[in-house]
Amino acid sequence: MRDETRVAVVGCGPAGLMAATVLSEAGLAVDIFDAKGSAGRKFLIAGRGGLNLTHAEPFETFVDRYGNHAQIFKNILAGFSPEDLRVWLHGLGIETFVGTSGRVFPKDAAAPEILKIWLETLDKRGVVFHYRHRWQGFSATNAPLFLAESGKLLEFTAKGVILALGGASWPQTGSDGSWTSLLAGRGIHLAPFRPANCGIEVAWSEYFRNRFSGKPIKNLLLSCGDRQATGDVVVTAHGLEGGPVYALSGVIRDQLEKGSPVHLFLDLKRDLPLERIREKLEQRRGKESLANSLRKGLHLTGPAYSLLQEFCPPEELTNPALLAGHLKRLMLPISSTRPLAEAISSAGGVTFPEVDADLMLRKLPGVFVAGEMLDWEAPTGGYLLQGAFSTGYQAAQGLLKWLGTLNGQTAYPSA
Ligand SMILES: Cc1cc2nc3c(=O)[nH]c(=O)nc-3n(C[C@H](O)[C@H](O)[C@H](O)COP(=O)(O)OP(=O)(O)OC[C@H]3O[C@@H](n4cnc5c(N)ncnc54)[C@H](O)[C@@H]3O)c2cc1C
Repeated sequence: MRDETRVAVVGCGPAGLMAATVLSEAGLAVDIFDAKGSAGRKFLIAGRGGLNLTHAEPFETFVDRYGNHAQIFKNILAGFSPEDLRVWLHGLGIETFVGTSGRVFPKDAAAPEILKIWLETLDKRGVVFHYRHRWQGFSATNAPLFLAESGKLLEFTAKGVILALGGASWPQTGSDGSWTSLLAGRGIHLAPFRPANCGIEVAWSEYFRNRFSGKPIKNLLLSCGDRQATGDVVVTAHGLEGGPVYALSGVIRDQLEKGSPVHLFLDLKRDLPLERIREKLEQRRGKESLANSLRKGLHLTGPAYSLLQEFCPPEELTNPALLAGHLKRLMLPISSTRPLAEAISSAGGVTFPEVDADLMLRKLPGVFVAGEMLDWEAPTGGYLLQGAFSTGYQAAQGLLKWLGTLNGQTAYPSA
């Protein structure tokens, strides 16, 4: 495979497909490769839970969601903003709407339909898809190498390369992080992959696990350190999952890594102040059971009620002041986060000092990186997909710029 008039994109996730979109729109001949037999597997998984494409909050707030990398993302998102994403989708015939929480979703189309339209558009522009081609590093002349399904190692010489290989969660979708040794071998610094937006492990009693696995606990306020999140959680066999747990999972992970014991605090009655709860508990009638009085007085039943029995000393359950305190701030010891393979996203990957502002690897000129393979993390809420789309866009713009400055030099200067 020798064709120095073409560019190569590796990875058919949202970041790679966006890069291919920009490059083909600019009139370049694009080849796109993926280790798997089809494109966008994680994108399709994301679609199962309601495809949250981006968020409609003000730009400055949006940028802050990228934490330590907010400044870098300010530049990246300015190139392809949440609004640009909606306009681009509109151009594909996909309308979006803003939900009550500000999250943006497709209006009438599901993820498979969006992916189909997108792939057809690229196909019509002449983008060539090579599935079951696993990227295996670079040849002596820095051309990307692919292991094809046939077992043959193919060298694809092109004018430039964009790597969009994803992070390391949900490896069954293709983003298995197996590429890390290939870049590390070229002296590129990578931060280890760690779970982000993941569930947490709590050592339930057998009774609680058997009785409540799969059951929701609604309208909680969760806190860990100085971070808080509200919403519904789900009890699992291992611990807790759900939006507010994911929102705090980064802080929990960081604290666990320091080796310090970590506790999650639950406000089980976040709409009632402590004093009011205590008053209600003091009105308990003499012979009424605790379960009945909590059910009648505070509408507390099921797993929420049983959590008190799991984690409070029995003698404190009969003391209205102490029980009210537990209801507002129930302490759950966290043993660990759920494994990386189960996480919605991953932290870690190619560190930002390794790339320039155009996302080109400083040690491999002409090779750009995009998407979750870069070392950033963001909460759920559309920030992950937007990050993948925007970095894919930025890397493609970078490659276009770099090709413009080549002035007839060879695309792969010898290392
Ligand atoms: C359950 C779940 C729900 C989610 N929901 C949302 C949501 O609602 N909103 C949101 O914003 N985000 C969501 N996400 C996250 C979002 O899907 C990812 O952040 C996004 O897909 C990352 O895009 P990417 O292009 O960087 O990588 P990926 O989508 O992971 O794509 C990487 C591609 O590279 C290929 N690849 C890897 N290694 C090689 C190799 N060596 N050679 C060739 N190809 C290779 C893979 O096969 C894969 O196709 C969700 C994720 C999960 C798991």
